[in-house]
Amino acid sequence: MRNRMNKILLLVGFLILGTATKSFAWGFWAHQRINRMAIFTLPPEMLKFYKKNIEYITDHAVDPDKRRYAVDGEAPRHYIDLDHYGEYPFQMVPRKWKTAVDVLTEDTLVSYGIVPWHIQKDYYRLVDAFRACDAYRILKISADLGHYVGDSNVPLHTTENYNGQMTGQKGIHGLWESRIPEIFGMKYNFFVGQAKYETDVLEEAWKTVLESHLCLDTVFGLEKSLTETMPSDMKYSFESRGNMNMKVYSQEFCTRYHDELNHMVERRMRTSVMRVGMIWYTAWVDAGQPDLRPLLDKEVVDEPEKYEEKLKIIDREASGAGATGYLNHDHSHDRKHPCEVEDLPVATTAALVMESALWRKWASQESN
Ligand SMILES: [Zn+2]
Repeated sequence: MRNRMNKILLLVGFLILGTATKSFAWGFWAHQRINRMAIFTLPPEMLKFYKKNIEYITDHAVDPDKRRYAVDGEAPRHYIDLDHYGEYPFQMVPRKWKTAVDVLTEDTLVSYGIVPWHIQKDYYRLVDAFRACDAYRILKISADLGHYVGDSNVPLHTTENYNGQMTGQKGIHGLWESRIPEIFGMKYNFFVGQAKYETDVLEEAWKTVLESHLCLDTVFGLEKSLTETMPSDMKYSFESRGNMNMKVYSQEFCTRYHDELNHMVERRMRTSVMRVGMIWYTAWVDAGQPDLRPLLDKEVVDEPEKYEEKLKIIDREASGAGATGYLNHDHSHDRKHPCEVEDLPVATTAALVMESALWRKWASQESN
């Protein structure tokens, strides 16, 4: 019962926040934006097919985060705790999966995250899908890959201190990857040019996580120094979402943090867009540049996944528990789970609706 209840609460938390859990990267909005904009980096031979399916690629950008609750083994695909392995550049971790398993064991790798290797695995699957000219698989794997590549560009997905829980900075995960992009992302420039071919997908994935990791000093350091200059009642404020009041980082804190980060979040989003385009393009080239025009006539049926059934069941139970149940729940016993948001709780599923409404607003403003 306890387990079931926790599951329900986690789902409610997930629906509402999408912020401080370990497996989340970029909030819903940012993931969808990255996948969507990556389409515009593609060459004409790919562009038509992807543009025709732009809503699919956008909507499904967050599937891997949804799956986390229903699919065993999903969570570690989204991160790698590099600092578990010593100091930058973490040479004790062999870059190739098989060697890494031999040296460190699969259990260890899975415990501390596998995102670079999972990117490589999905890339191979995408090459196969292109070879088979299977429109549905091309789209599904492209959307997933966009998610994992996006995650690998998030600094807080490369550290054990992923939510500042080891340094008294709890909540920083959602601040950096959700709150900041949602407030300021409207002004970011996501046109990044044309995708180039990647000669080594795994090497690029490693380059990405190492680059992300190097941002961490700045991510933590600036939050800390800013916190020292602001009393708690200025650092946080309350916003109503749906019928709930939610404790959030204040606009002023976010603005000052964003200014001091000096476009870091925008740069990481832009590199995400470029890298997503590059890996799609590379998979297509490596599959022999198949002609995608015949796929334009095919209607891609969005098949529900098995895990979606499972989620529906959890969701029904969750609606029975209700957000009030969640808020009344004593979180202090569940600290171990990364989904616990600690000091930055929670509103209702209305937040999710708002998030998606925000997205729709953007999508409608965008000129394709
Ligand atoms: Zn994720």
